[in-house]
Formats: sequence, C-alpha cells, structure tokens
Amino acid sequence: MRKKIVAGNWKMHTNIREGVALASAIDKAVEKSEIKSEIGIIIAPPLTHLSLINQVINDERVCLAAQNCSSESKGAFTGEVSAKMLHSVGVKAVIVGHSERRAYYGETDEILTKKIKSVIENSMLPIFCCGEVLEQREKGIHFELVKSQIENALFGFTSEEYSKIIIAYEPVWAIGTGKTASSAQAQEMHEFIRKTVESKFGKDLAENTTILYGGSVKASNAKELFSQKDVDGGLVGGASLDADEFLEIIKSF
Ligand code: PEP
Repeated sequence: MRKKIVAGNWKMHTNIREGVALASAIDKAVEKSEIKSEIGIIIAPPLTHLSLINQVINDERVCLAAQNCSSESKGAFTGEVSAKMLHSVGVKAVIVGHSERRAYYGETDEILTKKIKSVIENSMLPIFCCGEVLEQREKGIHFELVKSQIENALFGFTSEEYSKIIIAYEPVWAIGTGKTASSAQAQEMHEFIRKTVESKFGKDLAENTTILYGGSVKASNAKELFSQKDVDGGLVGGASLDADEFLEIIKSF
C-alpha cells in the first residue's frame, strides 16, 4: 500500500539556532500527538542544519531530507554536495527538481535523472517534483507538460529503481503565492500522473506510488486536498516553518 506523507520544505529559511528549535518543536509535537502510524513525516531543512538536526530528532517517525544534491558522485565540483555525503549525515530523502531549482539553476530533466539515480544508489528516497507554470495551464498544455517531465526524468529507470521514487505535483503558480489548486484540479492531475506511471511501470507500481501535492498547502486546506483519492499527502513550503501549523497539516489525514 502506498504511503501517506507530509513533507516540509524549509527552503532558504532559518539560521542554525532557529532551525534546531523548529526541528525539536516538530519532533516533540509528533512524539506527543496521536498521529496515525501509516503517515510519514519528512522535514527538509537547509544543508547547513542537517547534521545537527539529525542529532536532535528522537522520534523515528520524523525523517530528515535534503532540498537538493549534486548529480555527480565526487570530484572537482566546487560548492556541490553529493548524495553519499548527505546519506553520511543521516539524510533519508532528497527533494529533486523543485521548480525553483529548475527555474533559477537550469536543472534539466537529464540532470534530474542523474540526481535521482545518485539518491537511489545511496539508499535514500528521491522526492521528484513536477508541475506546470501558469502560462502552460492557461494554454491548456499542463497535462502534456507534466507527462513529458515524468517521461523524460523517470522512464529510464528500472521498476526496482522506480519503486523508490516519490512524486510531488507542484503547480508552479500555486507555490508561495497563496493560490492553491482546487482539490478537483489536484485530483485530476494526480490521477493523470498515476495513469502516466502505469503506462510504463504497470498498475501495481502506479497504485503504490506516493504522489504528494505542493502549492500553498496550509492547515485550512489540507483536509480537503488530502481527502482526494489520488492525493497521498503534501509537500509544504511556507506553512512548514511553523511547528503548530505543520502539525495541524499532518493531522489533516
Ligand atoms: C514548496 O516549496 O514546495 C511549496 C509548495 O511552497 P509553499 O507551500 O510555500 O507554496
């Protein structure tokens, strides 16, 4: 059965003191609350915080993720951090292909495939992001666009490799804008993504794929979004920086 997940993407927010405090608050709140056992909780702090935060997380249910990794495994790549390095500090999942990375750092599908491969080879879970910009939705080419992102980045993997991948559908027009896709829009696209996956990897793998929705998820809209048949949770940006709000989102299942 596919896993339900709420993942927090902190982006480039918090200094180390604030980050450790936030992670501890989330960890303690999760420990105290009665959150259903089948729900996975992921936090993706900035790179500089990962090692220390790994030491303050006690609850096994809070899983540490990175927001990015290098497509290369080692070598003369100044400023880059490999998947192996992330794994060595306790990271268990890596966000790959966030729209901000695609837009500001020119990450192509080809680069993303390499990153995902590296994440899998280092025993971590890739959270692969896809989604259209507003202009593409307005032109009515959003399904085509998401299909091509998935085909280009994921269809070269074996079934065994693919089974490790989590997909996050994040319409770019809904990220950080306060505009959320309606639950019907989210369900429609998630169902389409599952069908796209099925065409390559078959029904079982498609049914077992966790597909998260991302784009201005907050406590007030999470329940409605997460109640959709093909929405398996959320990738949460802004609202994950507040421990109480994040916990409310987790409890929306
Ligand atoms: C994100 O960063 O992936 C995101 C969805 O951000 P926000 O929730 O702030 O829209």
